[in-house]
Amino acid sequence: MREGAENKLLMAMIVAILAGGVSGFIWGEAMESVAWLGELFLTALKMLIVPLVAASIITGVAGLGDVRKLGRMGGLSVTYYACTTLIAVSIGLLMANLWQPGVGVDLTTGSNAPKPEIGDVGVTDLILSLVHSNIVDAAANMKLLPIIVFCILLAAALTTLAEKGKPVIAFFEGLNEAMMCIVGWIMIFAPIGVFALIASKLGSAGGGEAFFAQLSGLAKYAMAVISGLLAHAAVLCMLLMVLARRSVAEYLRHMGTALMTAFSTASSSATLPLTMDGVKAAGVDEKARRFVLPLGATINMDGTALYEAVAVLFIAQAYGIDLSFGQQMLVLVTATMAAIGAAGIPEAGLVTMVIVLEAVGLPLEGIGLILAIDWFLDRCRTTINVFGDAVGAAVVGRMVPHHDQQRAK
Ligand code: ASP
Repeated sequence: MREGAENKLLMAMIVAILAGGVSGFIWGEAMESVAWLGELFLTALKMLIVPLVAASIITGVAGLGDVRKLGRMGGLSVTYYACTTLIAVSIGLLMANLWQPGVGVDLTTGSNAPKPEIGDVGVTDLILSLVHSNIVDAAANMKLLPIIVFCILLAAALTTLAEKGKPVIAFFEGLNEAMMCIVGWIMIFAPIGVFALIASKLGSAGGGEAFFAQLSGLAKYAMAVISGLLAHAAVLCMLLMVLARRSVAEYLRHMGTALMTAFSTASSSATLPLTMDGVKAAGVDEKARRFVLPLGATINMDGTALYEAVAVLFIAQAYGIDLSFGQQMLVLVTATMAAIGAAGIPEAGLVTMVIVLEAVGLPLEGIGLILAIDWFLDRCRTTINVFGDAVGAAVVGRMVPHHDQQRAK
């Protein structure tokens, strides 16, 4: 997308977010009538995820040309993502200890909304989720992790086949370009989609007054999460400047559409096509971008990790349970794992939080206390999740030695 068009789209997105917020605030439930427009936008984005992830990973890995380079880039990405997630949880713990949001909370005010369905979320389940017996079934159910693992293996195998592998790689190269082309078309519709998503969600939450009523009961908790997310965003900006040597303002300008879409969809997977477009416009190294972003959108969730730490400490404080330093360290490790295990879909973090609650022996019913405003905090943390992925691509793109990439061409 040309710079002029990119700036116009960014302005339209800002207007759409504000207009959506104001309309949902004033007209409340009446705005549910535009929900279908948001649904249309979201579904169109989701339609691209599987082919885009497959084509992106296969061409990214095949472009590296050599399994050792894949090891280096994979190792670097996973290490970087693990480190930033640990930083995020530490900030979450710090915020929860500073704000003490759960102290004095009335335990009877918890929501009676149905508790999230809790699947298998143990450590071994996490490892088992890396492979799937039927790749078509994984694609049909949007299970991205086994698709990524399969595509890495396929690309690695294709590069060992020399001439025979080339047409297959060329096919995925073409598929990737075509998908990015469709992303460009869908982006034109993004401001309308974002407006509809925000207006209808705020509307279905009961409009402005109901939202503030929900928020006021949990104001301290929301502030602890939001201030933590802002602090982590500042850390990511620093990493962007120091490790990727990029201008924060410039990068944010390219990522604006993706970040606002993340806020309105609460899904980092659905936002992935736009994240890819933004990172491409920012000129991040192609191979890093193609490999690192799908991986990041699936396993790297800084915002979710931070939120889980605050939420778990909030629940402990509300129940009057004092978590020792050792237990808080357990929260550090388990929240990191829980965030890796969370899918990039709305409210996934709420479900994997069970890992953390169980690890430190807290009542699972505590989740009911934070349900009321989770839809809003989900949007905030998803925005940071997407920003974290994008910064990761820029950092890895710069840190993988340049001559590796030159030789791989
Ligand atoms: N909605 C988040 C995402 O898609 C995951 C979460 O629930 O924290 O990134």
